Amino acid sequence: NFATTARRAVETVAQMEAPNLYGVGVSKAQGVVKGLTGAIGNTPLIRLNHISEATGCEVLGKAEFMNPGGSIKDRAALYVVKDAEERGLLQPGGTVVEGTAGNTGIGLAHVCRSKGYKLVIYMPNTQSQGKIDLLRLLGAEVYPVPAVPFDNPDNYNHQAKRHAENLENAVWTNQFDNVANRKAHIETTGPEIWHQTNGKVDAFVCATGTGGTLAGVTRYLKTASDGRVKSFLADPPGSVLHSYISSGGKLIERTGSSITEGIGQGRVTDNLGPDIDLLDGSMHVSDERSIEMVYRCLDEEGLYLGASSCLNVAAAREVAEKLGKGHTVVTVLCDGAYRYADRLFSKKWLTDKKLIGAIPKHLEKYIVL
Ligand code: PMP
Repeated sequence: NFATTARRAVETVAQMEAPNLYGVGVSKAQGVVKGLTGAIGNTPLIRLNHISEATGCEVLGKAEFMNPGGSIKDRAALYVVKDAEERGLLQPGGTVVEGTAGNTGIGLAHVCRSKGYKLVIYMPNTQSQGKIDLLRLLGAEVYPVPAVPFDNPDNYNHQAKRHAENLENAVWTNQFDNVANRKAHIETTGPEIWHQTNGKVDAFVCATGTGGTLAGVTRYLKTASDGRVKSFLADPPGSVLHSYISSGGKLIERTGSSITEGIGQGRVTDNLGPDIDLLDGSMHVSDERSIEMVYRCLDEEGLYLGASSCLNVAAAREVAEKLGKGHTVVTVLCDGAYRYADRLFSKKWLTDKKLIGAIPKHLEKYIVL
């Protein structure tokens, strides 16, 4: 029924005069939106000028760092809460519970505040105090718990689930396997990209954490273009999905790690699984290429982006080079560098991670911390 959701989204959007996804008569830039949730989505699609000139393609980045919570995850947060409301799992004054250390928690905190729900977050206690403080000041109740693997019942995800089960009028939003997450991208991100490019998009590429963005956008663009738009997964070190796809479905043990936060996977989630066969291919992007792109995006495009965004940009450049001149390639600028600046622009951190050599000489002036 993702096919049905996508077909309905294509038909609905086709009837609209302007991309209008939030029940108001005009797009966000032209009118007033109702509350914070109305400000989620309808982000600009930015032409990456330098990379576009260099490749002879239109290489475009969806500016998800401009969402109110600062990341792509605001969309999923809104949809998992809306879904719980529609299914009667969440009544006024209820509680949302999630296991997350990152952007989903921040997105949920904004959405829950604006809708009057309580938010409880479980996260591994290896996370920075800064993340805990931010969630708390956004009104969340935060439980840092010992960082144990997923198969341990005390893993933060299972604790979140149990917390919701033991509480009246509470829901565990379960971003990894709750397909309301991908629906956000079938109904908003995908249609926005289609409209913003006047249907001229040739390829989409991005990395995945839950898989919601990649699967949802891919499903919409394939449906709207009758299969013409190509879609690719970009995978960081320590993720198993590139090898899963390129081996035709063999799941290997997860080893290694990456500096890119919020992406990489050890399994095929319910958000990605049903549509993984729609993908036209996948690629691996090293941390060296991602970090170099963090500095290039800043210097050449003026964009201050997190590492997952820059992995995506590096992948989009690779896809543009493969497709050849004249194509339009879209990717996602997931969040800004603000939350990662103490690492990405620190000489000590870059040296510890053995990435200092990946920064081109003329860009070393940005290593200021
Ligand atoms: N980049 C960042 C910074 C993220 O926080 C996330 C979400 N974990 C992603 C990319 C991946 O998005 P998705 O969960 O839709 O695959």
